[in-house]
Parts: sequence; C-alpha cells; structure tokens
Amino acid sequence: MTESIQQYSFTLYGARYVKGPWESIAATIQIRAGSIADISQTLCHGPISRNDIDLDGFLLMPGLINAHDHLAFALFPKLGNPPYRNYIEWGEDIHRQFSECIAKHKSIPKDVRVLWGGIRNLLCGVTTVSHHDAFSPVMLTKGFPVKVVQTNGWAHSPALGGNLHAARKATRPGGTFVLHACEGIDDLAYEELWKLDRVGLLDAETVLVHGLAIDAIGVELMRQRATSLIVCPSSNNFLFERLPDISLLAKIEKIALGSDSPLTAEGDLLDELHFIMRYCGVAPHAAYRMVTETSSEILRLESGTGRIKIDGPGDLVAIRDTGQDIAARLPQLSHRDIELVIINGSVQLASEALIDRLPHSLKQCMEPLWVDGSTRWLRAPVGMLLEQAEKVLGIGQVKLGGKSIHIPV
Ligand SMILES: [Zn+2]
Repeated sequence: MTESIQQYSFTLYGARYVKGPWESIAATIQIRAGSIADISQTLCHGPISRNDIDLDGFLLMPGLINAHDHLAFALFPKLGNPPYRNYIEWGEDIHRQFSECIAKHKSIPKDVRVLWGGIRNLLCGVTTVSHHDAFSPVMLTKGFPVKVVQTNGWAHSPALGGNLHAARKATRPGGTFVLHACEGIDDLAYEELWKLDRVGLLDAETVLVHGLAIDAIGVELMRQRATSLIVCPSSNNFLFERLPDISLLAKIEKIALGSDSPLTAEGDLLDELHFIMRYCGVAPHAAYRMVTETSSEILRLESGTGRIKIDGPGDLVAIRDTGQDIAARLPQLSHRDIELVIINGSVQLASEALIDRLPHSLKQCMEPLWVDGSTRWLRAPVGMLLEQAEKVLGIGQVKLGGKSIHIPV
C-alpha cells in the first residue's frame, strides 16, 4: 500500500452503505489515517474538504476477503485432464503433460506474477487475500495492490506439506495454521482428516482448505475440534467433477470461500460466489458472509475487517446503487460492477465513471488497464507488468485469470 496516500483524510458522501446482507442505509463516512473514523446519518450534499468524494448513486460494501488463492499463478491457464481422484494425481499429471507451459509461465519473474495475482483480486473488489504458498517480499511492500494476510502459518497438505508439526510450530501465536486437506474423492483424500486428528493437528488453530472428501462423521469431528473450513467449489468441480455438499459442510461452525488459482478455478472471487450460489445451493446472504465476516473471523483479521464500522479499516468497495440490498445484488455482480476500491484509506481502483469524481490528490500515480471489456484505473504499474509478462508469453497473449487484458491507448 502506498504510504503517502494513506495519510489523506477524506469523506465519502452521497452513498448508501451495506450494514448487512439485507440492510443498507444512507450515510456519510469519514476516513482518517486509513481507518473509518466516523459513520454519520447526517447527510452531506457537497464536499466539506477538497479531498472528499461524491458517491451519489453508489452503494458501498466492505472490501471482500478472498480466503484462498495462490498469487503466483494468476496468469496461468487452467491445466489438467480431469477427472482425477485426488490432488496428488492432478499435480503429477500436469507436470508430465504440461511441463513446457509451466516452465514458460514460471520464467516470468515471480514478483511480476504475484503482482498480477494482487491485481486479479483487486479487480473483483477483494481488499484482503490469504495467499497459500511461500511469501514473496513484494507482497509485504506498501505498493502491493491488496492486503495479504501475514499472520497465518501454512503447509501445502498432509501428503505434500513436509514436516507438518514444524510448519505448525512456525505459525505466529494468535495466527491460524492453513493447509489443503481432503481434496479429492478417494480413500486417500477421505483419510487425511483422520490422520490430522491422530497426530494432534486438528483443533481451533487449524483451517482446512477444500474438504471435498469430508463426510457427516468428519463434519462432527471438525465441530468437536472447532476446526474451520475454506471451500473452493469450482476448483473441485473442474478437478474431480464433484461438488462439495455445502448443506453438510455448513454444519461446521465457520466456513469461508476462496477463489483458488486460475489453474483450476472458474474465475475470480465474484465468479466463485456465483458458482457456490448457483451450483451448491448457498443462499446469497450466507455466501456474502463467506467472503466478509466469517472469512475475517477464520483468518483472525484486524477487528472490523469484513464490515463497515467505526474504527475498522478503511476497506471499501463501491458499486452502482440499484436500490437493492447486497444479498439481492450478489448473484449478478461481476468485476464490471466494481467501480471503486479503497484499501486502508487509499484509492486502489477506480472506474472511468468515477476517476473524474476523484480529487487529484487521491488519484495520483494510477494507471489504466482494459480488462475483458472495461477499463479500470489501478494503483499498480500495469504498463511495466504487462510488458514483462508479454516478453515471455507474447504480445496480446497475456490473460489474467482467463480474462483478456491490454493497456488502453
Ligand atoms: Zn489451493
């Protein structure tokens, strides 16, 4: 995040804001030092200071939280010849069948790839992402497009995670320990939950990702151990042609949603939300919580993350206000609807409609990117990043999470 921009204080006026899935109210919101300093129902109809933003006609929702992604794979295509029985079979197969494609993409500098991973999230209104893999130093810099959760420990999975006890021990106190588990449809995937329990790694600190092979007895065990779950249903559907049974898994106390990477998933986090509502029967208000409040609780994020509340972080997303509540909007929402993203009080994304409403001080150093039919102004060096990626993949050949991108002339 850009430090100098964070220092600005400004007011967002004219918008309604999302108080809950079925509740939105008109208010004036003050941002100070990166946080929400005040929410007032005394409405302003004009700017109080030169940095204020007129959001008349817009609905403000909390920044979304993507509970699971692999940021270095944002430019990869979907890879695989499904169906598979488990994640090990898939991994071995793609390294056999697609080794050239993997090597080519990996020859793009890793910092460039993970920055595109941040941009992929920013474009769909994600303000915080939980990255699964080793950290790159660039993710921790203030210039990274979105916030990356830093407090959690991780291991790949029971089969590929090496020494799980050592990985768990390396988790910071107060953080959670996140690992893929039960990703598949065979005995190996099914057994992973019970193996983790036998070695004492199934408890309230642990968060499992996928859980496709968890059955009713497994759900009961997770409830007893207070272990949370993050699901990525479109990825499961691609690899195993099987959907997670969310009506069963929802009995686990806390369950969140992640986009996973473009290697296996349908699209961005909004696409994943559509998928879980359409194919897994999750109601919009429950889906909304899976990418806001519950996700924040599972990942143990800063107080107020995933809600719009006083003293919470200034992480806000604006979409056009149609008069509906967010739960009614969610089934149709796509990256094209994301018109403004503010993270820690810094404007990180603005649509062409909103860039002109922004005071000069808040839109310095933003660059335009055309994504799949619409242009967004981003606080990221997209020109340089696209040039770096095109050096390897070819001019006009770069796709971000499957979406075409170019720099508008
Ligand atoms: Zn994953």
